[in-house]
Amino acid sequence: MNELLAEFAERAGRYLSGLQTRSVPPTAEALEALSRFTEPLPERGTDAREVLRLLDEIGSPATVATTGGRYFGFVTGAVLPAALAANLLAGVWDQNGAYRVMSPVAAHLEEVAMGWLLDVLGLPADAGAGFVGGATTANIACLAAARHALLRDAGWNVEEDGLFGAPRIRVVVGDEVHTSVLKALSLLGLGRSRIERVPVDGQGRMRADAMPELSGDTVVCIQAGNVNTGAFDPAEEVCAAARAAGAWVHVDGAFGLWAAASPRLAPLAAGFAAADSWAADAHKWLNVPYDSGIAFVRDAEHLRAAMSVGAAYLLAGDDREPCHYTPDMSRRARGIEIWAALRALGRAGTAELIERCCRHAARFAEGFRAAGHQVLNDVVLNQVLVSFGDDETTRRVVAGVQADGTCWFGGTVWQGRAAMRVSVSSWATTDEDVERSLAAVLRVAADG
Ligand SMILES: *Cc1c(COP(=O)(O)O)cnc(C)c1O
Repeated sequence: MNELLAEFAERAGRYLSGLQTRSVPPTAEALEALSRFTEPLPERGTDAREVLRLLDEIGSPATVATTGGRYFGFVTGAVLPAALAANLLAGVWDQNGAYRVMSPVAAHLEEVAMGWLLDVLGLPADAGAGFVGGATTANIACLAAARHALLRDAGWNVEEDGLFGAPRIRVVVGDEVHTSVLKALSLLGLGRSRIERVPVDGQGRMRADAMPELSGDTVVCIQAGNVNTGAFDPAEEVCAAARAAGAWVHVDGAFGLWAAASPRLAPLAAGFAAADSWAADAHKWLNVPYDSGIAFVRDAEHLRAAMSVGAAYLLAGDDREPCHYTPDMSRRARGIEIWAALRALGRAGTAELIERCCRHAARFAEGFRAAGHQVLNDVVLNQVLVSFGDDETTRRVVAGVQADGTCWFGGTVWQGRAAMRVSVSSWATTDEDVERSLAAVLRVAADG
């Protein structure tokens, strides 16, 4: 085992130190070599070191260097050293994060991490949380809690009796709702197309003045951080209207909720703490390994009622049981990495991580503008949308940048126009990475 671990450490170190010099996307040769994995299931076993060698030699070159400093696609965090080390040690422990009796340390660290997260994200200190696989699962868990609460108020037990014959629930969303919220609604029997969509403004923000009359049977889904522009919905107005009507407000705050961790950026997240539930990612901006998200619910009992089951052999104790708040039972002890990331960063380091990414995004926007390209969004957070002319030209530049390999950016369509998306979400991105990436993009754009 020690030999295997030593070899692992050497290979892991080589991979990480190679990130600075390699192409961000894998080369064509690396992709071609993946066919070496395609073989019939071997009859006999293979030595673990040989398995590791195959994985590293064929697998490592075919990765995308998302944990380096020059990957700006989607909203993709890297992995902080402390979070990676915690993930590896937790892997050695192989703890099941479901029940306290299975792993006292996992349950305890999860509870500590929960308190720290509520603190750093500016959410109510007595809210509850489930540690799930990402913001999609967090949206599902939060909306299940909303469904439970609204139907319970209507005299219906949805967990026991299901949705057939249940009183209706209205769902109000902004027109820029993230597709994962629609997935959650479909899984929960609330439907993707019976929702009421509210028009948005030029930044993708829900227009509070165009919101329908709310009622006590309504869930309003707002977002902190539009996936393209980084814009925030008007939480104060929406939450005030919802409170007056007895409606439930759910926040998809996958990455944007992290603005609250920075005193300078916190005004963007003002008003969101008045909601009833919040979905956030840890694998995006907190830079912990996949898969990691958190479902926060103001009244933890609603989440617990929606998620918990019992059986005679499942020995639930008096303390908080992790799996009473999640769709999963057996799972990775995800709270450990979150604890490690926050312990390593501290409050100041967390704020600095968020602010640094936003500063890099502003520099990208400035660099594009200076070269005569049009930035399509107000750069308020870590997201930039840039056009290089007509849609065809923009798409050609995006493809050219991806082929160049210095860095990686994705494309999108923003309010009818093709754009290149910039998302700065990695702790590892330096000023030099930004300048190198900017130069690569401007070179490709100038070459037409
Ligand atoms: C990324 C994202 C999601 C989905 O999160 P996953 O962690 O990929 O499940 C949901 N909403 C927003 C706004 C996002 O950016």
